[in-house]
Amino acid sequence: MKKWKCIQVHHHKNIGELIEEYQNDGWNLHTYQVTGDWLAWTAKHFLLFQKDVKDAKEVSSRGYPCPYCQVIVTLSAKSCPNCGKDLYYPTDT
Ligand SMILES: [Zn+2]
Repeated sequence: MKKWKCIQVHHHKNIGELIEEYQNDGWNLHTYQVTGDWLAWTAKHFLLFQKDVKDAKEVSSRGYPCPYCQVIVTLSAKSCPNCGKDLYYPTDT
């Protein structure tokens, strides 16, 4: 599953920082588009970020995401430590 996020930036001096910030959070820069005059204050910068998100039902060795709040919980947990909801864990059947 892919997640997309489109960001509009008004001041190009902030873009480098912004991209770094998003990359640290797992986003990849997909498209960078500028409309208007690059040097003018009227220029608008659009950044499109893309992130691969694991399917909520996918089970990993360390656990799986809570269907309610997406926090990773262990397979043996009977309730989510974060939101407190009752959990079932996926089986292979
Ligand atoms: Zn939860």
